[in-house]
Amino acid sequence: MKNVAIIGAGLSGLVLGKRLREHAQVTLFEKSRGVSGRLATRTIGDYEFDHGAQFLTSRSEAFKKFLTPYIDSGDVTEWQPHVITLAAGEKSYTRQWFEPHFVGSPAMTSLCKKLAVEQDIEFKVRITELTQGENGWSLQTEDSKIETEFDWVISTAPAPQTRQLLGGLIPEELLSGEGGLDSVHMSPCFALMLGFESLPKLHFDAARVKHSPIEWIMLNSSKAGRGAASTLVIQTSNEWAQGNLERPQEEVTAILLAELEQLLPVSLPDHDAISLQRWRYSRVEQSMKQDYLLDAETRLAACGDWAVEGRVEGAFTSAERLASALELLL
Ligand SMILES: Cc1cc2nc3c(=O)[nH]c(=O)nc-3n(C[C@H](O)[C@H](O)[C@H](O)COP(=O)(O)OP(=O)(O)OC[C@H]3O[C@@H](n4cnc5c(N)ncnc54)[C@H](O)[C@@H]3O)c2cc1C
Repeated sequence: MKNVAIIGAGLSGLVLGKRLREHAQVTLFEKSRGVSGRLATRTIGDYEFDHGAQFLTSRSEAFKKFLTPYIDSGDVTEWQPHVITLAAGEKSYTRQWFEPHFVGSPAMTSLCKKLAVEQDIEFKVRITELTQGENGWSLQTEDSKIETEFDWVISTAPAPQTRQLLGGLIPEELLSGEGGLDSVHMSPCFALMLGFESLPKLHFDAARVKHSPIEWIMLNSSKAGRGAASTLVIQTSNEWAQGNLERPQEEVTAILLAELEQLLPVSLPDHDAISLQRWRYSRVEQSMKQDYLLDAETRLAACGDWAVEGRVEGAFTSAERLASALELLL
């Protein structure tokens, strides 16, 4: 059996790993302590926050079919929030969502945790470099070299990080050619997490905010299975995050708390938990014009939401299509 290394254990790495393990010896390398990537959940004491993707939608038949067993098992549930549009000094109004919105349950990471079962994953391993060895690709981490040499290496890291790993190794036309990797543009986002023992009634579960650094206010605790504590996740617009990316975290937090006070019709009590996440690569502003990257000559490939569309479903589609192509080559 061929040895395959997958860099990243977010949704795309896990979908790919699950498909390929029927054809090859697959190992996933993940720089964090757990699976799920941007489908993220953070725990602070008794509080849990989905500080990455807030929900997922399923539009293609393939993604609907993929989700069905996880919906049946309760790892994914539909979220039917009361959604409003909010702007300081303006009357808020209710928004309609015209398609089902799903969340992981009891946390956003639940889906990926299920996908990870029986997969061979090495955590806290950041791959920094690939070099050609005698029997395949050799992977370098921050402080050592991985012993196994791999027939195939597939990166599922966000596009700029995939560029750092594969640039100079795959043909130039896959990078700078029309619709190649270099055409991808990903933008940042801040997520502020606030935990409260209890909250006054907010009259919404999700608020889309206008004319503010804040783009969404999510009552995270309104999602199924989140427990009794009240949690808010505040996400900035990508544009504001871009302009304030290197600003000290305390300043960003102070600005967002002040904005929140202006926006909400009620005063918030003191928070018991607070944390700020800076996502350097959060949304895909411009995706590639191919569903994945694959070079059969060098045996290097890549996939992720950035190839198709910056949504969870885009990550799935890219990984599924790359898996179908790779199955013919393994
Ligand atoms: C704030 C925010 C809000 C979002 N909201 C939504 C939403 O509401 N709906 C929606 O559908 N989508 C949303 N998204 C997008 C969604 O989260 C992504 O499309 C999806 O999770 C991407 O999955 P992926 O596997 O392609 O990438 P990722 O989840 O980024 O997975 C890549 C993995 O690779 C790992 N990695 C990177 N480099 C290395 C390395 N060198 N070595 C080892 N491991 C490495 C990372 O740690 C990560 O786990 C949001 C994203 C963010 C950040």
